[in-house]
Amino acid sequence: MEVVRGVHQIKLPFPKGISEDANVYLLEGSEGDILIDTGWDSVESLAALQQGLKEDRLSFKHIQTVVVTHIHPDHYGLASKIKQVCGAKVTMHRIEAELIGSRYVDSGELLQGLGSELKRNGVSQDELQDMVGASSWMKPFVVPENPDVLLDQGDRINNGTFTLEVLWMPGHSPGHICLYEPRRRLFFSGDHVLFDAMSNVGLHPQSGENPMNDYIGSLRRTGDVGASFVFPGHGPTFSSLKLRVADMLRYREQRKRVVMQVLRDGIRTAYQVAQEVYQRQGMADISFASLDAWHKRSLLLETIAYIKALTIEGDVGMINREGVVLYLAKD
Ligand SMILES: [Zn+2]
Ligand SMILES: [Zn+2]
Repeated sequence: MEVVRGVHQIKLPFPKGISEDANVYLLEGSEGDILIDTGWDSVESLAALQQGLKEDRLSFKHIQTVVVTHIHPDHYGLASKIKQVCGAKVTMHRIEAELIGSRYVDSGELLQGLGSELKRNGVSQDELQDMVGASSWMKPFVVPENPDVLLDQGDRINNGTFTLEVLWMPGHSPGHICLYEPRRRLFFSGDHVLFDAMSNVGLHPQSGENPMNDYIGSLRRTGDVGASFVFPGHGPTFSSLKLRVADMLRYREQRKRVVMQVLRDGIRTAYQVAQEVYQRQGMADISFASLDAWHKRSLLLETIAYIKALTIEGDVGMINREGVVLYLAKD
């Protein structure tokens, strides 16, 4: 579907019947087309891309550049196949490129690191295995491909019609980029800003030291981008970037306050904090205990990210007790 002149949105399916789509965007140019993000590596995803191109009278052979906003499977999985089909150059932020090997080629060390992090933060032995392996099913849906071109903040990608400015927005992933087209005021936000969901931000072996602080800083900078149209990696496109960013910032600040309140009520492991925050927020009808391992893990890693930010800011202290970390409010 052509969403604005020369910009086409194609929705690619998630695997395993998950009812979610990955939005990819093709920008037509007099010197070749740019594809932003790729979807998962699956035959269904490749077929949906082919179909979407055909419906808009586009073709694989004009794609010259694939820009990957970040290396999560739903944005990067299919990059290798697309390159095979049309010889496009794959490009991403240099920090993201460094994470490919440990995430998709040899992930033993990463999983071990994740396991120790979860254990230190109060996950019991019975739950540990499931939580560590909660995203292992995704691996077959990614073919690792090293980028041909590395990007940095401020770089420009030009196809004769569109000039995209690279905006480095760490937080959801440490090398996450957004792309801004200043002449038409178009903003391609990846998973950094979504219209109908909050981006995942968690502390884990590939997140950097203080991802929540990175994310909040990135959101603040995003509020100053003068965009008229926003094209996210999932969900609907929208125009009110400033308002949406303000909502997302409020959400983060509110959640951080709840984490702090829970810690003021007593000394806790991060796992206990996550559980309590979940209950206090009344987030769903399902109890924390009956959430699946992936959801529990996301909530826990996000809680650890808040606690880490509060610790660095000097509001939270910690003690080590038999290999498990307990946190407490300092005020
Ligand atoms: Zn993502
Ligand atoms: Zn995504």
